Amino acid sequence: MERNSEHDKESVIATNIMADEGSNRFRATIRFLPQSLSQGGYTLGTMQLLPSFSSARQLGQSPRRAASASIGFFHCTRFKLAALLCVVPAFSGLKASLAAPAPIICIDPGHPSETSAGASANGLSENRLNWQVALTLQKRLKAMGIRTVMTKNRENQKVTNRQRAEIANRASAALFIRLHCDEGGGRGFAWYYPDRAGHKQGVTGPPRHVQVASREAAYILNETMTTVLRGSLRANPVKTDAATFVGGRQGGVLTGSIFSKVPTALLEMCFINQRNDARFIASKAGQEKMAQAIALGVQRFLRSRP
Ligand SMILES: [Zn+2]
Repeated sequence: MERNSEHDKESVIATNIMADEGSNRFRATIRFLPQSLSQGGYTLGTMQLLPSFSSARQLGQSPRRAASASIGFFHCTRFKLAALLCVVPAFSGLKASLAAPAPIICIDPGHPSETSAGASANGLSENRLNWQVALTLQKRLKAMGIRTVMTKNRENQKVTNRQRAEIANRASAALFIRLHCDEGGGRGFAWYYPDRAGHKQGVTGPPRHVQVASREAAYILNETMTTVLRGSLRANPVKTDAATFVGGRQGGVLTGSIFSKVPTALLEMCFINQRNDARFIASKAGQEKMAQAIALGVQRFLRSRP
Protein backbone atom coordinates (compact mmCIF):
# COMPACT_ATOMS: atom_id res chain seq x y z
CA MET A 1 0.00 0.00 0.00
CA GLU A 2 1.11 3.56 -0.62
CA ARG A 3 0.48 6.69 1.35
CA ASN A 4 -0.14 10.03 -0.19
CA SER A 5 2.40 12.58 0.96
CA GLU A 6 -0.21 15.13 1.98
CA HIS A 7 -1.35 14.32 5.47
CA ASP A 8 -3.29 17.42 6.29
CA LYS A 9 -6.71 15.97 5.67
CA GLU A 10 -8.80 14.11 8.17
CA SER A 11 -8.73 10.70 6.64
CA VAL A 12 -7.52 8.64 3.74
CA ILE A 13 -9.45 6.18 1.69
CA ALA A 14 -7.65 3.33 0.00
CA THR A 15 -9.38 1.43 -2.71
CA ASN A 16 -8.11 -1.84 -4.01
CA ILE A 17 -9.80 -3.47 -6.93
CA MET A 18 -9.48 -7.15 -7.69
CA ALA A 19 -10.87 -8.54 -10.90
CA ASP A 20 -12.50 -11.93 -10.77
CA GLU A 21 -10.78 -14.00 -13.45
CA GLY A 22 -13.33 -15.35 -15.87
CA SER A 23 -16.06 -12.96 -14.88
CA ASN A 24 -16.98 -9.37 -15.51
CA ARG A 25 -16.94 -8.35 -11.89
CA PHE A 26 -14.53 -6.50 -9.71
CA ARG A 27 -14.27 -6.69 -5.96
CA ALA A 28 -13.34 -3.44 -4.33
CA THR A 29 -12.24 -3.12 -0.74
CA ILE A 30 -12.40 0.32 0.78
CA ARG A 31 -10.22 1.13 3.75
CA PHE A 32 -10.40 4.09 6.04
CA LEU A 33 -7.02 5.12 7.37
CA PRO A 34 -7.06 7.57 10.30
CA GLN A 35 -4.29 10.08 10.01
CA SER A 36 -2.60 8.87 13.17
CA LEU A 37 -2.04 5.40 11.76
CA SER A 38 0.81 4.85 9.39
CA GLN A 39 -0.33 1.31 8.61
CA GLY A 40 -3.52 -0.66 8.76
CA GLY A 41 -6.91 0.90 9.05
CA TYR A 42 -10.47 -0.28 9.01
CA THR A 43 -12.17 -2.13 6.25
CA LEU A 44 -15.40 -0.33 5.73
CA GLY A 45 -16.97 -2.64 3.28
CA THR A 46 -16.62 -4.64 0.12
CA MET A 47 -18.56 -4.01 -3.00
CA GLN A 48 -18.77 -5.44 -6.45
CA LEU A 49 -18.10 -3.02 -9.26
CA LEU A 50 -19.28 -3.45 -12.79
CA PRO A 51 -16.74 -3.00 -15.59
CA SER A 52 -18.52 0.16 -16.64
CA PHE A 53 -17.91 1.81 -13.29
CA SER A 54 -15.50 4.68 -13.67
CA SER A 55 -12.96 3.24 -11.23
CA ALA A 56 -12.72 0.11 -13.31
CA ARG A 57 -12.11 2.19 -16.39
CA GLN A 58 -9.20 3.81 -14.61
CA LEU A 59 -7.45 0.46 -14.82
CA GLY A 60 -7.06 1.01 -18.53
CA GLN A 61 -7.42 -2.72 -19.04
CA SER A 62 -10.20 -4.98 -20.16
CA PRO A 63 -12.09 -6.35 -17.17
CA ARG A 64 -11.21 -9.94 -17.98
CA ARG A 65 -7.50 -9.24 -18.26
CA ALA A 66 -7.04 -7.10 -15.22
CA ALA A 67 -5.67 -9.38 -12.54
CA SER A 68 -5.45 -6.82 -9.82
CA ALA A 69 -4.85 -3.16 -9.53
CA SER A 70 -4.86 -0.40 -7.06
CA ILE A 71 -6.37 2.92 -7.93
CA GLY A 72 -4.55 4.58 -5.11
CA PHE A 73 -5.63 6.76 -2.28
CA PHE A 74 -7.87 9.73 -1.97
CA HIS A 75 -7.73 12.34 0.69
CA CYS A 76 -11.10 12.80 2.10
CA THR A 77 -12.77 15.17 4.47
CA ARG A 78 -15.22 13.92 7.03
CA PHE A 79 -18.04 15.16 4.83
CA LYS A 80 -16.80 13.29 1.79
CA LEU A 81 -16.27 10.15 3.84
CA ALA A 82 -19.88 10.32 5.00
CA ALA A 83 -20.95 10.67 1.38
CA LEU A 84 -18.87 7.64 0.41
CA LEU A 85 -20.43 5.58 3.17
CA CYS A 86 -23.77 6.34 1.59
CA VAL A 87 -22.46 5.29 -1.81
CA VAL A 88 -21.16 1.88 -0.70
CA PRO A 89 -24.60 0.42 0.07
CA ALA A 90 -25.82 1.83 -3.23
CA PHE A 91 -23.14 -0.14 -5.07
CA SER A 92 -24.00 -3.22 -3.04
CA GLY A 93 -27.50 -2.84 -4.43
CA LEU A 94 -26.07 -2.55 -7.91
CA LYS A 95 -24.29 -5.81 -7.37
CA ALA A 96 -27.55 -7.52 -6.50
CA SER A 97 -29.43 -6.09 -9.43
CA LEU A 98 -26.85 -6.02 -12.24
CA ALA A 99 -23.87 -8.33 -11.67
CA ALA A 100 -24.49 -11.94 -12.64
CA PRO A 101 -23.68 -14.33 -9.78
CA ALA A 102 -20.77 -16.73 -10.20
CA PRO A 103 -22.02 -20.02 -11.65
CA ILE A 104 -22.59 -23.08 -9.50
CA ILE A 105 -22.00 -26.62 -10.70
CA CYS A 106 -23.93 -29.36 -8.94
CA ILE A 107 -21.78 -32.50 -8.70
CA ASP A 108 -23.79 -35.67 -8.18
CA PRO A 109 -21.73 -38.72 -7.20
CA GLY A 110 -24.10 -41.52 -8.24
CA HIS A 111 -25.46 -44.05 -5.68
CA PRO A 112 -26.69 -45.18 -3.29
CA SER A 113 -30.20 -44.23 -4.36
CA GLU A 114 -33.67 -45.78 -4.32
CA THR A 115 -32.75 -47.89 -7.36
CA SER A 116 -29.24 -49.18 -6.72
CA ALA A 117 -26.21 -49.18 -4.44
CA GLY A 118 -23.98 -49.11 -7.53
CA ALA A 119 -22.04 -51.63 -9.55
CA SER A 120 -18.99 -53.58 -8.42
CA ALA A 121 -16.39 -55.47 -10.42
CA ASN A 122 -12.64 -56.13 -10.41
CA GLY A 123 -12.69 -55.47 -6.67
CA LEU A 124 -13.93 -51.93 -7.33
CA SER A 125 -17.01 -50.21 -5.95
CA GLU A 126 -18.72 -47.85 -8.38
CA ASN A 127 -20.09 -45.86 -5.45
CA ARG A 128 -16.59 -45.25 -4.08
CA LEU A 129 -15.12 -44.33 -7.48
CA ASN A 130 -17.95 -41.87 -8.16
CA TRP A 131 -17.32 -40.27 -4.76
CA GLN A 132 -13.55 -40.07 -5.23
CA VAL A 133 -13.81 -38.46 -8.67
CA ALA A 134 -16.50 -36.09 -7.39
CA LEU A 135 -14.19 -34.81 -4.63
CA THR A 136 -11.33 -34.39 -7.10
CA LEU A 137 -13.61 -32.60 -9.54
CA GLN A 138 -14.84 -30.30 -6.79
CA LYS A 139 -11.24 -29.24 -6.05
CA ARG A 140 -10.52 -28.64 -9.74
CA LEU A 141 -13.60 -26.50 -10.24
CA LYS A 142 -12.92 -24.48 -7.11
CA ALA A 143 -9.40 -23.82 -8.37
CA MET A 144 -11.01 -22.43 -11.54
CA GLY A 145 -13.20 -20.10 -9.48
CA ILE A 146 -16.32 -22.15 -10.11
CA ARG A 147 -18.62 -22.74 -7.15
CA THR A 148 -19.90 -26.24 -6.47
CA VAL A 149 -22.68 -28.01 -4.63
CA MET A 150 -22.59 -31.75 -3.89
CA THR A 151 -25.69 -33.93 -3.73
CA LYS A 152 -24.32 -35.86 -0.76
CA ASN A 153 -21.94 -35.27 2.13
CA ARG A 154 -20.71 -38.81 2.72
CA GLU A 155 -19.75 -41.65 0.43
CA ASN A 156 -22.51 -43.96 1.67
CA GLN A 157 -25.24 -41.37 2.18
CA LYS A 158 -28.43 -42.52 0.49
CA VAL A 159 -30.09 -39.82 -1.60
CA THR A 160 -33.00 -40.45 -3.97
CA ASN A 161 -32.66 -39.41 -7.59
CA ARG A 162 -35.47 -36.90 -7.13
CA GLN A 163 -33.66 -35.35 -4.16
CA ARG A 164 -30.44 -35.10 -6.19
CA ALA A 165 -32.23 -33.08 -8.88
CA GLU A 166 -33.91 -30.91 -6.26
CA ILE A 167 -30.53 -30.05 -4.72
CA ALA A 168 -29.34 -28.89 -8.15
CA ASN A 169 -32.57 -26.91 -8.61
CA ARG A 170 -32.29 -25.19 -5.24
CA ALA A 171 -28.73 -24.14 -6.09
CA SER A 172 -29.90 -22.84 -9.51
CA ALA A 173 -26.96 -24.83 -10.84
CA ALA A 174 -25.60 -23.92 -14.26
CA LEU A 175 -25.13 -27.66 -14.75
CA PHE A 176 -26.10 -30.80 -12.83
CA ILE A 177 -23.37 -33.37 -13.51
CA ARG A 178 -24.07 -36.96 -12.58
CA LEU A 179 -21.06 -39.26 -12.17
CA HIS A 180 -21.39 -43.01 -12.68
CA CYS A 181 -19.42 -46.04 -13.83
CA ASP A 182 -20.93 -48.56 -16.21
CA GLU A 183 -20.57 -52.29 -16.48
CA GLY A 184 -21.26 -54.54 -19.44
CA GLY A 185 -19.84 -55.20 -22.87
CA GLY A 186 -18.54 -51.73 -23.75
CA ARG A 187 -15.44 -49.67 -23.03
CA GLY A 188 -14.70 -46.05 -22.27
CA PHE A 189 -16.82 -43.07 -21.26
CA ALA A 190 -20.23 -41.90 -22.47
CA TRP A 191 -22.48 -38.90 -21.84
CA TYR A 192 -26.27 -39.14 -21.58
CA TYR A 193 -28.80 -36.29 -21.65
CA PRO A 194 -32.61 -36.00 -21.62
CA ASP A 195 -34.14 -35.30 -25.06
CA ARG A 196 -37.79 -35.44 -23.97
CA ALA A 197 -39.99 -34.92 -20.94
CA GLY A 198 -41.01 -37.83 -18.73
CA HIS A 199 -43.59 -38.22 -15.96
CA LYS A 200 -43.08 -39.34 -12.40
CA GLN A 201 -44.76 -38.71 -9.05
CA GLY A 202 -47.13 -36.20 -10.64
CA VAL A 203 -44.29 -34.19 -12.20
CA THR A 204 -43.55 -33.74 -15.91
CA GLY A 205 -40.05 -32.69 -16.97
CA PRO A 206 -37.51 -31.60 -17.83
CA PRO A 207 -38.81 -28.55 -19.74
CA ARG A 208 -37.76 -28.06 -23.34
CA HIS A 209 -35.16 -25.36 -22.65
CA VAL A 210 -33.49 -27.68 -20.12
CA GLN A 211 -33.40 -30.46 -22.72
CA VAL A 212 -31.71 -28.13 -25.23
CA ALA A 213 -29.09 -26.88 -22.75
CA SER A 214 -28.48 -30.44 -21.50
CA ARG A 215 -27.75 -31.55 -25.04
CA GLU A 216 -25.28 -28.69 -25.51
CA ALA A 217 -23.54 -29.58 -22.26
CA ALA A 218 -23.28 -33.27 -23.15
CA TYR A 219 -21.76 -32.53 -26.57
CA ILE A 220 -19.29 -29.93 -25.29
CA LEU A 221 -18.18 -32.16 -22.42
CA ASN A 222 -17.89 -35.18 -24.69
CA GLU A 223 -15.75 -33.27 -27.17
CA THR A 224 -13.43 -31.90 -24.49
CA MET A 225 -13.06 -35.26 -22.79
CA THR A 226 -12.36 -36.97 -26.11
CA THR A 227 -9.35 -34.69 -26.54
CA VAL A 228 -8.07 -34.80 -22.96
CA LEU A 229 -8.52 -38.57 -22.49
CA ARG A 230 -7.26 -39.63 -25.91
CA GLY A 231 -5.03 -42.67 -25.41
CA SER A 232 -6.45 -43.35 -21.95
CA LEU A 233 -10.13 -44.12 -22.43
CA ARG A 234 -12.32 -44.76 -25.45
CA ALA A 235 -14.77 -41.97 -26.33
CA ASN A 236 -18.30 -43.11 -27.15
CA PRO A 237 -20.96 -41.12 -29.01
CA VAL A 238 -23.28 -38.92 -26.91
CA LYS A 239 -26.51 -40.75 -26.10
CA THR A 240 -29.88 -39.87 -24.61
CA ASP A 241 -31.43 -41.01 -21.34
CA ALA A 242 -33.51 -43.45 -23.40
CA ALA A 243 -30.36 -45.52 -23.94
CA THR A 244 -29.94 -46.09 -20.19
CA PHE A 245 -31.44 -49.06 -18.35
CA VAL A 246 -33.66 -46.97 -16.05
CA GLY A 247 -34.48 -44.39 -18.73
CA GLY A 248 -35.54 -47.13 -21.11
CA ARG A 249 -38.07 -48.41 -18.57
CA GLN A 250 -39.71 -45.06 -17.84
CA GLY A 251 -40.51 -43.38 -21.12
CA GLY A 252 -36.92 -42.62 -22.12
CA VAL A 253 -36.07 -40.23 -19.27
CA LEU A 254 -34.03 -40.77 -16.10
CA THR A 255 -35.65 -39.82 -12.78
CA GLY A 256 -32.99 -37.21 -12.06
CA SER A 257 -33.74 -35.60 -15.43
CA ILE A 258 -37.52 -35.54 -14.94
CA PHE A 259 -37.13 -33.47 -11.76
CA SER A 260 -34.30 -31.30 -13.05
CA LYS A 261 -35.09 -27.66 -13.79
CA VAL A 262 -31.44 -27.00 -14.70
CA PRO A 263 -29.28 -28.45 -17.51
CA THR A 264 -28.24 -31.99 -16.66
CA ALA A 265 -25.99 -34.65 -18.12
CA LEU A 266 -24.92 -38.04 -16.83
CA LEU A 267 -21.43 -39.41 -17.36
CA GLU A 268 -20.63 -43.09 -17.34
CA MET A 269 -16.90 -42.61 -16.75
CA CYS A 270 -15.87 -46.11 -17.86
CA PHE A 271 -16.77 -49.79 -17.65
CA ILE A 272 -15.41 -51.05 -14.36
CA ASN A 273 -15.70 -54.69 -15.40
CA GLN A 274 -13.32 -53.98 -18.30
CA ARG A 275 -9.74 -54.43 -17.11
CA ASN A 276 -8.08 -51.40 -18.74
CA ASP A 277 -10.92 -49.06 -17.81
CA ALA A 278 -10.86 -50.36 -14.23
CA ARG A 279 -7.10 -49.84 -13.93
CA PHE A 280 -7.45 -46.27 -15.19
CA ILE A 281 -10.29 -45.16 -12.92
CA ALA A 282 -8.89 -46.91 -9.83
CA SER A 283 -5.57 -45.03 -10.05
CA LYS A 284 -5.03 -41.61 -8.49
CA ALA A 285 -3.58 -40.37 -11.79
CA GLY A 286 -6.59 -41.67 -13.71
CA GLN A 287 -9.03 -39.96 -11.34
CA GLU A 288 -7.08 -36.69 -11.59
CA LYS A 289 -7.13 -36.90 -15.37
CA MET A 290 -10.85 -37.68 -15.41
CA ALA A 291 -11.59 -34.74 -13.12
CA GLN A 292 -9.42 -32.45 -15.21
CA ALA A 293 -11.20 -33.52 -18.42
CA ILE A 294 -14.63 -32.89 -16.89
CA ALA A 295 -13.59 -29.55 -15.38
CA LEU A 296 -12.22 -28.28 -18.69
CA GLY A 297 -15.47 -29.33 -20.37
CA VAL A 298 -17.48 -27.51 -17.69
CA GLN A 299 -15.40 -24.38 -18.23
CA ARG A 300 -16.05 -24.52 -21.98
CA PHE A 301 -19.77 -25.06 -21.41
CA LEU A 302 -19.98 -22.09 -19.05
CA ARG A 303 -18.18 -19.87 -21.55
CA SER A 304 -20.61 -20.94 -24.26
CA ARG A 305 -23.59 -19.73 -22.23
CA PRO A 306 -25.13 -16.32 -22.93
ZN1 LIG B 1 -24.30 -45.98 -11.55
